[in-house]
Amino acid sequence: MDTKEVKEEIERLRREVEEHSRRYYELDAPTISDFEYDKLIRRLQDLEDAHPEFLTPDSPTRRVGGRASEKFAPVVHEVPLESLQDVFSGEELQAFSQRVDGAVPGEKQYDVEPKIDGLSIAVEYRNGRFFRGATRGDGTTGEDVTENLKTVRSLPKVLTGAPERIIVRGEIYMSREVFEALNREREIREQPLLANPRNAAAGSMRQLDPAVTAERRLDLIVYNIQLSTERYETHAETLDALKSMGFDVVPYRLFDGIESCREQIRWIGEHRDSFPYEMDGAVIKLNSLAQRELLGSTAKAPRWAVAYKYPPEKKPGKVLDIAVQVGRTGVLTPKAILEPIRLAGTTVSAATLHNQDYIDSLDVRVGDTVWVQKAGEIIPQVVEVDKSLRPEGTVPYSLPAFCPVCGSPAVRDADGAAMRCTGAECPAQQLRTITHFASKDAMDIDGLGAALVENLVNAKLIATPADLYSLDAQSVAALDRMGQKSAENLMAAIEESKSRGLARLLAAFGIRQVGVSAGKVLARRYPDLDSLMAASLEELTEIGDIGPVTAKYIVDWFALDQSRHQIGLLRSAGVSFASAEVPTDSRFAGRTFVLTGTLEHYTRDQARTLIENCGGKVSSSVSKKTSYVVAGEAAGSKLTKAQSLGIPILSEPELEEMLR
Ligand code: NAD
Repeated sequence: MDTKEVKEEIERLRREVEEHSRRYYELDAPTISDFEYDKLIRRLQDLEDAHPEFLTPDSPTRRVGGRASEKFAPVVHEVPLESLQDVFSGEELQAFSQRVDGAVPGEKQYDVEPKIDGLSIAVEYRNGRFFRGATRGDGTTGEDVTENLKTVRSLPKVLTGAPERIIVRGEIYMSREVFEALNREREIREQPLLANPRNAAAGSMRQLDPAVTAERRLDLIVYNIQLSTERYETHAETLDALKSMGFDVVPYRLFDGIESCREQIRWIGEHRDSFPYEMDGAVIKLNSLAQRELLGSTAKAPRWAVAYKYPPEKKPGKVLDIAVQVGRTGVLTPKAILEPIRLAGTTVSAATLHNQDYIDSLDVRVGDTVWVQKAGEIIPQVVEVDKSLRPEGTVPYSLPAFCPVCGSPAVRDADGAAMRCTGAECPAQQLRTITHFASKDAMDIDGLGAALVENLVNAKLIATPADLYSLDAQSVAALDRMGQKSAENLMAAIEESKSRGLARLLAAFGIRQVGVSAGKVLARRYPDLDSLMAASLEELTEIGDIGPVTAKYIVDWFALDQSRHQIGLLRSAGVSFASAEVPTDSRFAGRTFVLTGTLEHYTRDQARTLIENCGGKVSSSVSKKTSYVVAGEAAGSKLTKAQSLGIPILSEPELEEMLR
């Protein structure tokens, strides 16, 4: 790489790291595994080390964590909450101890602890009573989460024999047991699953409502005294003191010299499953506090400790079958059904294969032995196939061309790798379809949200949007948490929705890429649903703002038996199919315009809308049937063709005149 390329690569990596940090710290929703993230940081660090001329103080390699959210009051940390330097190998660990030896003479004792993968927190006690707690934030300023912390069962509210004032650092985590139990409950209630214990803990602690935090059953484990009115000599002493005060303290072991730590690091890595919390490494810390002081810190992390990061655990498993799940948005997701294996603390019997492209890239087949990995996501994924173990007679796998739930054709997204069920009545999509139909931007049925739709579907009162119009107040009133009054309100809202008109009805159908604005465009063009249904693909493609992909989705959707069946039911229920948007001004009725060149005051689409609002049509090609060609700046071949056919040419002011 030449210098310019290095600079560009550094800038690219910084942008990438910034984006992942934002997702992780501020949204609690990462999209790559921590291991991958750590490798990105490492690559950036290596480049900056080799090219210090490109180092800037705001590089993510020199900053801690994310920004504190403004939802919470800020807390300025009296002692910064630093990060840790990562090491990934024995050699890097060795290099760390050499740096320590270089700066501090004499014997060293190291302590090895598990690195808990939770949310870093500082808790302050005054006169033995819990006073305040804050997240790490950017290391200098964190978020005041005192009220939420009070709901954490393992946070002592009162300490035994505590110093007058003490600030303790620890990790808030969600135990694996709680995480799995909460996800089981959420699965039953069809709520979105929590991604992993770390994000679940971080998300739960940063809730505005402490009652929500309480439900998440979080725990606290501590590993450092940040500040104390008492003096200590060693780290081990502080941990013992914290334990006697009543804290849950990180388990630790002391070793003389770095060499003897290795066995313990390996042991922790191999026994990750046996701890109640998720961990992503081991922390190796110098035990003597006086020696620590001599070493100090870099901009981001102490020089007296490192985090030894383990790669995500991978295990082999046999693919018994490949099953296809249909999600609420109709996406078909293939997953490998595995002979059960124990992986990172849980029993795994299925792993995602994402989509057809992913299957093809690995060539996963039923009967294969595959490597499975958990990488921060809920569902483990197949990452490799061991082709040397492939049995005779296996065949490449292709996703079905039909939805396995309703049998409708499954089509590949024009803009991605996903296959999607096209069935309007697919039971796998029932809730979504009906909730969408009733939503504000669609038929706007007041009071009919996801929970009530679920209630109605579970009671078998409805299965499709059209069923809403045959509900009766009595059956609705008999539902849980309903009553006569709410049932009557709902019936009135459903009745009212019948007259929303074509634009909203189209948006309510949930045809891909047809939302409110495309609904309005279509409703300006067609007086009612029947004339739209009779339109050809070519005709729809010609409409400005629709485009060929959307036009195809529309035509395909209307061609489905299920869609026609739904439309039939809506018609008999008296739902209005008429457009409220069709122009009343008809001065251009029957006339076709062609726009060419650049107009000074309007975009093509604006000019098209103005013409259509007066009942005219806009076409993209000049023919004998063209009534006018509107020629702007730099008009080209269309203008020449119009002249040769003797078609009247309008300038922009002339068009404006006609519109007036
Ligand atoms: P870090 O998590 O690697 O190390 C520092 C943290 O370890 C401390 O803040 C502390 O909270 C914690 N810790 C746990 N046990 C400890 C112990 N026994 N002693 C001392 N500290 C202990 O570094 P970081 O700066 O907090 O952030 C990076 C972490 O966040 C990495 O794990 C990284 O992979 C992850 N991350 C992931 C993404 C993503 O997109 N996946 C994005 C940003 C950050």
